[in-house]
Amino acid sequence: MRFLLLLTLTTNAFGAGLGSYVHLVVADSPGPPRNGVRVTYLGTNGYQFEFKGHALLVDPYFSRVDLLSVALGSRIQPNASRINDGLRYLASNPDAILVTHGHFDHLLDVPTIMAKTRARLIASGSSVDLARRAGAASGDAVRPGYVRQIGPWKIRVLPATHDRLFGQVPFDRPAPQAGVPRRAADWICGEPLAFLIEVNGQRIYIDSGGTPAQLPPNECVDLAILGMALPDSRARLAGALERLQPRYILPSHQDDFFRPLSAGFQFGPLTDFARVQRECAQQNRGRLILLNYFRPWMLPKAANPKFQKPNLKTS
Ligand SMILES: [Zn+2]
Repeated sequence: MRFLLLLTLTTNAFGAGLGSYVHLVVADSPGPPRNGVRVTYLGTNGYQFEFKGHALLVDPYFSRVDLLSVALGSRIQPNASRINDGLRYLASNPDAILVTHGHFDHLLDVPTIMAKTRARLIASGSSVDLARRAGAASGDAVRPGYVRQIGPWKIRVLPATHDRLFGQVPFDRPAPQAGVPRRAADWICGEPLAFLIEVNGQRIYIDSGGTPAQLPPNECVDLAILGMALPDSRARLAGALERLQPRYILPSHQDDFFRPLSAGFQFGPLTDFARVQRECAQQNRGRLILLNYFRPWMLPKAANPKFQKPNLKTS
């Protein structure tokens, strides 16, 4: 907690925007959308994927609770006006919302977004329980190994770990307590999940970070969205790239998620994008890209047929 307070005081001194990395930022040029998977970054670890009139959300979070409220253990709640602002960029009826774990920066807004869009929640048992206690009408509790086909999306649920912050996973009580979650600490991590999403003959792997103890599966993907908020994530980057052999690498969860989205992208104080860049260059696998908030980008289809065949490697 003391550390969080220190962060509150120093966070503005560290941040830098995407300006230095403009050559890495991809976005579609204006015009009618082409036929493919469109990826829109929503900030933190939030994404919308769109294909042929269908949409899928991962970890949508617009409220951007301030760090002081988190550090002091004050009551936090979804910010209706910021959620409405965010939803203006999204499809009106997403097929589902996937949630990687129960922390507030992944799950806090989900019950509100579910009520507004009628999207179905897919998350771990404890995250579904938290969402229900916060007002969600339903939820599909899944575990690693589960597969869901929803519209055009084939969603495989994979095991994941959560980065440690100074030796421990934040807000990691073993079992959720009863009642409506009110403080940041009530939004417990639960079992972290990763997802492998297949659509249009393309594969997208997404997690919110992790440790070297749990690497992604040994499967080629078109796009790897890898959480990179903290040192543990960076320590497993080389191993993750070796296994996924992604065509495109999108480091995620790098922005300062305590600042409102309207303030623009700023790297979080514990990120180290220079190291991420070096690691990717050393691995020489895939093209490193960045996305700016709410600027959609179409994931190009692979010219190389190895990405379009079933992958027979085992992990
Ligand atoms: Zn988390």
